[in-house]
This record gives sequence, C-alpha cells and structure tokens, in this order.
Amino acid sequence: MFFPDKVSAEKIIKKYSAPVFVTDRKSLDNQVQLIKKHSLENIKIFYAVKANYNPSIIKTLKKSGIDGIDAVSPFEIELAKRCGFAKKQIIFTGNNSGDDELREIFRQGITPNIGSLSELERFGNMFNGSDISIRFNSGIGAGESKYVVTGGSKSKFGILEEDIKEVKNIIEKYSLNVIGIHSHIGSGFYKAKVFKRAVRSILKIASNFRNLEFVDLGGGFGVRYDPKATSINLEEFFTAIKNDIKEFVKNNGRPIDVIIEPGKFLVAESTCLLTKVTNIKNNGSTVFIGTDTGINHIIRPALYSAYHHIINISNPKASQKKVTIVGNICESSDVLCKDIKMPLPVEGDILAILTAGAYCASMSSLYNLRPYAPEVLFDNGKITEIRRSLDFNQTLSGLGFSAL
Ligand SMILES: *Cc1c(COP(=O)(O)O)cnc(C)c1O
Repeated sequence: MFFPDKVSAEKIIKKYSAPVFVTDRKSLDNQVQLIKKHSLENIKIFYAVKANYNPSIIKTLKKSGIDGIDAVSPFEIELAKRCGFAKKQIIFTGNNSGDDELREIFRQGITPNIGSLSELERFGNMFNGSDISIRFNSGIGAGESKYVVTGGSKSKFGILEEDIKEVKNIIEKYSLNVIGIHSHIGSGFYKAKVFKRAVRSILKIASNFRNLEFVDLGGGFGVRYDPKATSINLEEFFTAIKNDIKEFVKNNGRPIDVIIEPGKFLVAESTCLLTKVTNIKNNGSTVFIGTDTGINHIIRPALYSAYHHIINISNPKASQKKVTIVGNICESSDVLCKDIKMPLPVEGDILAILTAGAYCASMSSLYNLRPYAPEVLFDNGKITEIRRSLDFNQTLSGLGFSAL
C-alpha cells in the first residue's frame, strides 16, 4: 500500500496543490511481475483498463509486460490502440450495447465479448460469419461487496449457462465463429477456492465449443484495503487451477490462450490520494475531519461502502483518536472513512487515502463543479505529472459548453 514519505508529500503538494493522486511506478511493475512469476505458461494478462485509464499508467504496465487490454467502451478501445496495443491485444466486454455500438466495435476490428442472447442475435444479423467471444454467467458470483458481484442470476452480466442451446442455435444461424469464452464473477475475491470454482465452471461451459482461441477467466483478484489484511496468495490461486487448465488445453485440440483480466490487482495499491485537512468539527458524538477532496475524487466509500485506510502523513505520532473523515462535497454521503482511529490531525495536515489506484480517479466527476485532482507518478523519488489540473476555462471547455 504505497504512500510517499512526509518530505515527498509536502513537495508534491507544494508543486501540484492538494488533492493529488500519487502513483508509485515501482508498485505497478511489481504487480505485473508478481502475476508473471506465479501464473501459468499460457496465461495472458489483459488489464481491465476501466480501473484506471491514465495513459501513463497504461504505458507503464505495458512496459512491464502486460499482454493486452480489456475494454468496456469504444473510447477505451481507442485509448488502448493509442497506447500501442494491436487489435488482437484488445477485447471488448461491453454490456447492453446497442446496434450502433456493436457496429463501432466491428469497425474498430475488435472481438466483442457478447453477454446477452439479444446482442448475439443482433450482432450475428449484422455481421454474419464473424469472430466473436461469448460472456457467460456461470451462476457463481463473488466480490468484496454485493455491489461488485457480476455472477449469479441477480447480475445483469453474461448469458446464463442454461441458454447454451439457444446460443448454439444463433451461432449456427449466422455462421458465427466463437473464438473465445469469457466469465468474470466479480471484483475483489480473496480465496483460491472461489477462483477454482469459477474457473471450473467457465471451462465446463467452454468445453461446449470447439476451435476456441482463448478462454477468458475474468478479473477480480482481491487487493488490500486494510493494512491489517494479508495479500492474496497468487501462487495458491494458480496452483488451484493448474490441472483443470492443463486438462482443458489438452482436450481443446489446439493451442489456446488463457486470459485473465485483473483491474484493481494491477493498480489499486500503487496509488494514494493526498488531501489536506481544511476543517475540524467536534459535534460531541463525532469528530469530523474535513478535507479538500470528497466523493468527486473517491466515490467508492459512498458507492460500495468500501473501506479505504487513511493515514496522517504530517503527524504520525499525534495521539490516537476516533474520527470520521469527510470531504467538501455538499452531500451527507460524502464520508471517506467513518470512525477510524488515527493520530488526531490538525488543520493543514496532509492525509493519505490509501489503495486509491483503482476506481477512484477513473470514477471521478465534476460534481459541485470542483476540478479533477491532478495525478503524478512517483519513480524512486522523481516526480512527474501524468494528469495536469485544469483551470476553470479548461474545465468548462472540456464539458463542451458553447455559450460562455
Ligand atoms: C471490471 C472488470 C474486470 C476487472 O475487475 P477487477 O476487480 O478490477 O480486477 C475484469 N473483467 C471485466 C469484464 C470487468 O468488467
């Protein structure tokens, strides 16, 4: 869980002002190498770029050796291409795509990962004889909260296993060539057992299809949000699926890529959001620590009741006190961490909100018309700006308003 030392943090804030996301280059590289070290020979890493689409971060991961990108929108595909990925290195896992979007994906030359019978029918009708991948929902779901589970009948994602027959009918009708089978059970699972069950179910579904070029096991590998938690044991994860994969590859009758799509695992722990304490209010029952950021920059606590650990960089030795850390957005849900025991901050202190590399900057909004937070890359003490802060005019023009 990366955070800069006090001197670096002060330097960064002096130059870029708070709030500011700080990403450690070495941590990004470490995560890629960690997967490579433990994963199996034919496994390919396709980064789920929605976790963090900062181009500098994508390029850093590419340099470290990721194999491709899992994109969920046409713009993400375009971005992946501009970052140097070839068409075959990009897969599109949209959901609820309309015909226009499906046409756009086809025009971009990217294999769509189709997740509903209706989409399959429409895509087949438009692009008879083309290559596709199919996203199944095996009925297994897992995740760090109910909001991020993407498997099971309560989830909107993927085609249910019981519809395989219908899938086959549509494929035949339009001479579609199924080159991939995909499943993603959810975000943030921590047990090898869950992964093994998920992989088994995908492979079972995949064995209904011949001529596959890849089987895609999805992402969701858990990360540490609490420093007291231990990291997942990747070696155990891959050992758990080794035999099933081997067996499957053998039966497939041709070489096949096994794709995983980690998002948060690659980026979450590499980044923290530095913020300054602007206000302290003691309401008797609660001590509120007010900051200069909020749910506009880090919405996960409000959206998923997610935990983000927060540390006091300026005064780590101050006496411990239970506080609630809040932002400067006009919403009662603008709570960053409730009832956390920490060295009691004073106004002006720098806090670091940890594990903020995934689904934080990429979920930012301009709500309350507060600007996006700038982002910097921390490379062995050297600091480079990777997202500049926009002033009022730039922000407004980015929104496309014409009459000002
Ligand atoms: C979001 C997503 C991922 C990545 O999930 P993480 O929990 O960030 O690893 C992978 N695959 C698909 C299809 C996704 O939608």
